[in-house]
Amino acid sequence: MPHAAAQRDFALEIVRKLRGAGFEALWAGGCVRDQLLGLTPKDYDVATNATPNQIRDLFGRRRTLPIGTSFGVITVLGPRAAGQIEVATFRIDAAYSDGRHPDSVTFTDAEHDAQRRDFTINGLFFDPLAEQVVDYVDGRRDLERRVIRAIGEPRHRFEEDKLRMLRAVRFAATFGFTIEPATLAAIQEMASQITAVSAERIGMEIRRMLLDRNRAAALTLLRDTTLLPHVLPEISELPTNRFDDTTRILAALHEPTLATVLAALLSTQPNQDSPAPSPQPRAPSPQPPVPVPHSPAPSPQSPFPIRQPPANLCRRLRYTNKELDRTAWLLTHHAGIAEAQSLPWPRLQRILIHEGAAELLALREAIAGPNDVGLNFCRERLNWPAAKLNPPLLVDGSDLIRHGFEPGPEFADLLENLRDAQLNGEIHTTDEALALADRLRPAN
Ligand code: ATP
Ligand code: MG
Repeated sequence: MPHAAAQRDFALEIVRKLRGAGFEALWAGGCVRDQLLGLTPKDYDVATNATPNQIRDLFGRRRTLPIGTSFGVITVLGPRAAGQIEVATFRIDAAYSDGRHPDSVTFTDAEHDAQRRDFTINGLFFDPLAEQVVDYVDGRRDLERRVIRAIGEPRHRFEEDKLRMLRAVRFAATFGFTIEPATLAAIQEMASQITAVSAERIGMEIRRMLLDRNRAAALTLLRDTTLLPHVLPEISELPTNRFDDTTRILAALHEPTLATVLAALLSTQPNQDSPAPSPQPRAPSPQPPVPVPHSPAPSPQSPFPIRQPPANLCRRLRYTNKELDRTAWLLTHHAGIAEAQSLPWPRLQRILIHEGAAELLALREAIAGPNDVGLNFCRERLNWPAAKLNPPLLVDGSDLIRHGFEPGPEFADLLENLRDAQLNGEIHTTDEALALADRLRPAN
């Protein structure tokens, strides 16, 4: 992670060097916006009238990477602490025939480069030598009014690049801004076209929105822009009170993992813990969805109902299998925390020692509040000394083999049964464990 101050110094040095060689050079886009908002920019971008070749000549081939040359972008490598900075030639984008990427670019001046950017607050430049904002698009005014406004005609700008619709929502949510009416109307009109954007890019935008602390505002804006059914259909049919529950839960999460947010999103589905959709009227589920210890875990292919919505969502948005597994695990077990006291200890113990336990408690706290009885019961148990919470096994597979058991399919079940007995305090020594094994399933 580059150091912010070092990155800033390096971005300043790049501007100085370009100016020294007779070129125009300005900081551009997000870094200018963030700085004016009093935020530390994540990275700095430099815009210049030098061409990619001139940039490479000036900084040297060894210190530059021509990764985005066709778009006029050269990466300049800085000292280790500063990281790298993208230096882009002022450009206008030619036609967008695929609704996402310009077919070609033409080099131009700063004013036209500002015009091709997406929103006025992203169209600002900053001259770090004169310490002056250069504003061709009234971006400063919109920053003050806290408004997301498309540069130019909104419909045309979203027609060019549909991803901008999701970017509008993300910027509005993360900064707590509103979307200017004409820009909002254009998104509402064109929302269904978001599907022209690749699943990965949609997934990345949604991920950023959901990980940001203003994730509840993002969800509300996705609904208000009517993008929701196209990007998160799983939750677009929620009745208003459930939707409000969902945003309340999302807002209560503190720096959650993506899986925790996804589980929170899906936790308020009416059929979340009832059987798979069927033509019969849905009865409230009598049992919380905690699997019985000795039943096999649901396989990825199994029609286990709780796995279906997260599987659809994660596969569609290209989230990882690990994120999917964790989301499904959280959805399967969060109801168990609610009634932790009445769960058999071996069952609860396996949940609490799972590597997802912290996420599960965070989810439960967001749903039920910090004083939930089941949650506090779990916290007390987690405070137990390790030797009590998760005592070393009395026997393992090789002990059983040495004792005369043939390794086989029932082995795992037998070990689980012995573990249950140990956790229940029914056996305390290896000899007792082997004796119990003989009683449960006599050795050959
Ligand atoms: P952040 O990095 O916090 O998401 P950012 O504004 O820096 O915000 P980037 O995606 O890094 O966003 O893009 C840098 C700049 O490039 C933007 O500020 C904007 O001026 C321009 N830009 C980025 N994506 C688009 C787009 N899809 N259409 C038009 N301009 C864009
Ligand atoms: Mg950026």
